[in-house]
Amino acid sequence: MGLSSGRKESPVELPEALKAAKAFHGHLGPNVTIGLRMGRIIVGRLGDTPFSYHIRCFTGKTPPISCVMDGLQLSTPCTVGNGGIEIMECGEARVVALDKTGRTVEVRLRSEISERIEKEYDPKHEETLPLALWEMSEESLFEVREDMG
Ligand SMILES: [Zn+2]
Repeated sequence: MGLSSGRKESPVELPEALKAAKAFHGHLGPNVTIGLRMGRIIVGRLGDTPFSYHIRCFTGKTPPISCVMDGLQLSTPCTVGNGGIEIMECGEARVVALDKTGRTVEVRLRSEISERIEKEYDPKHEETLPLALWEMSEESLFEVREDMG
């Protein structure tokens, strides 16, 4: 980064989904980003028809882990307000989506990623880690279990 140019380092352009998360959630942290990725996995397996399934969110209601829930609300048809998200007070980065036919999709954040978030989260460069998590593969972030009922 040449300081001689006299220009400020331009901020990294965020992908649209992360911009939307930041606008809705108030900041862009790692947990809302994890929620977005979890929601995309669920929609990929169960679709995006409103009221066709609901999600049990095991984060509880205390930030920062509860920030996962806002990512889910943005990326799936399920919200707290429409009754599609049931909050379980477990403090775990884990969600289970269940549809009416008995199909379930469980998405659990890998423990090494939880540890990485604890270690690398830096409020001064808050968007660095979310961008890295956004780029990672599903397999490296999550354990996904499907039961087709
Ligand atoms: Zn947050």
